[in-house]
This record gives sequence, C-alpha cells and structure tokens, in this order.
Amino acid sequence: MPQWNCGCAHCTAARSKPQLRRLQASIAVSADGERWLIANVTPDIRHQITAFDKLVPAPPRRSPIAAVVLSDANIDHAFGLLELRQAERLSIYSTETVRDVLLAGCSALRPFAKPPNAWHIIGDSPVHVNDASGLPVGLRVRGIDVGGITPQFDGGRDVTGAAVGILVNDGAHRLLYAPCVGAMTDPLRRELALADAAFLDGTFYTEHELQAQALGTRTSRQMGHLPISGDGGTLPVVVGLGGKHRYYTHINNSNPVLDPASDALHALRDAGWMIAEDGLAFSLSKEAGSASGARR
Ligand SMILES: [Zn+2]
Ligand SMILES: [Zn+2]
Repeated sequence: MPQWNCGCAHCTAARSKPQLRRLQASIAVSADGERWLIANVTPDIRHQITAFDKLVPAPPRRSPIAAVVLSDANIDHAFGLLELRQAERLSIYSTETVRDVLLAGCSALRPFAKPPNAWHIIGDSPVHVNDASGLPVGLRVRGIDVGGITPQFDGGRDVTGAAVGILVNDGAHRLLYAPCVGAMTDPLRRELALADAAFLDGTFYTEHELQAQALGTRTSRQMGHLPISGDGGTLPVVVGLGGKHRYYTHINNSNPVLDPASDALHALRDAGWMIAEDGLAFSLSKEAGSASGARR
C-alpha cells in the first residue's frame, strides 16, 4: 500500500503519510538465526530483504537466504523470484501444481527448476529444508490443504495443490503461514489448534468489499480468499486458535482493519488476533527455552 493505480481512502492516505505504507506479505524463518527460509517471494522482496538486518549478505556475495517456500503461484507471492535470479544456487519448495503453473506461466522462472538450483515438491508429509548444497537448515515444511484456486493468469482453477498453508516445524515449534485460504478445511483447523504462531489470510474483511468500494467486481471467495467476517468468515472460527502469536496477514488496501479506529480492527483484537505489520519479529525459542525458532 499504496497500490500504484488505486485512489481508495487507504491508498490515498498512504501516499501522504509514509508511515501508513505497507510492503507485500512475506516472512523469513530461521532455526539458527544464520540461514533463512523465505515464505513467499514478493515482487518487492528487495525492499523486504534490505529492511531486515539478518538478511544482509556476507562478502563477496553470499546471502543468508538458503531456501524459499511458496504457498501458491500468485504473482504477488512468487514473482519476486525474478528479483532473486542472481542467486548462485537456490532451493525452492512448493506443491507440484504451484511449480507447474509458475513454469508454464513464466519461462523466465525455468532456470530455478534446473541445477544448480533445485525445486522440491511439498505435500502432506514433512520435507526437510535443505540449502542448494543439500545441507539441512533445521526446518521442515509441509503443505496444508486450504482449498485455494490457481491465479487468474492460470484461469483460477480449483485443483489440488493450487494453494496451501505452509507449516514450518523446527522439531520444537510449529509456525503456520497461510495467506491464501479458500476454505476452512479440517487440516487447517487442526494446524491452527497446534500452532505456536499463525499467519492467516486477512485479505478482505467482507465478501463484497471490492464491489462496495467500486474497486473491483469479484467477491472475496471468487478471488480465493475467505473473508475475515460475515457468513463463513474466518474470525469466529479462529478465536482461541493460532498459539501465542496470531496475525492476519496479506491485508488488501480495501480492508477496513487498516484503519486503527475501525470497528473491524476492534473486532479482530477482541478475538485475540492482530494484523501483521512490516518489520514484525519474534522468537519462539526464547519463550519455550529451547534451541531454535524464528528470531531476529
Ligand atoms: Zn487502494
Ligand atoms: Zn497475494
């Protein structure tokens, strides 16, 4: 925010007040604070990397970013890979569907599926995250069914593995990253109940948000996102779930929760959830007193 072509109230305010500007949705996770897994690579990833001191490269040209995991094939979640094209070697993790949609949709991404890069497939079973030389980074990832659809450029198809929630596990803690949730599936509920930290799809507050503000024609569900509120919205379901760190993320600029004085944000807070802010950082290991976790 602001979106380049948008004159909505939030985007307009963000143009005049830099503190209201927001980067796209992405997180970095590490077991040792040295080597990092990036969950979703946004087109603005260069700014996100620059803003986080743990991701500063070592000389002559060595990035602490060891691997990337993708929840889906949306442009705003995956096409930051083009910015990472200079990577000497990169490990990428996604479902088979996400990989195939991306490689079919953008030939410039194909080098990421060839040596010395490696594109690994994730699904229901945990997969150890390795850097491109095959060294484990102390994390496992799993794809959690969230009933999503493929991106618009692929026709918005309802196919298996189109979008998943990403479960990151270091052996002691569980972090769930799910910025695209099309359905509150049983596996998603289960992982929300077990998570020590959760980031959940907060794209839209209401089903008809874009139409109500004359910003678009499609509904929240048609775009692959359950709304936060209303009939079948996620908020009533997630009260008491999500562990100690509960954040809605991937907030669209139309979403009323971006206004600190809104009833929407109050409702969210009353339910024990927050919205993820740029630069948010926390350590799970310090709380639990064990050896690993996401830390700054
Ligand atoms: Zn806007
Ligand atoms: Zn997105």
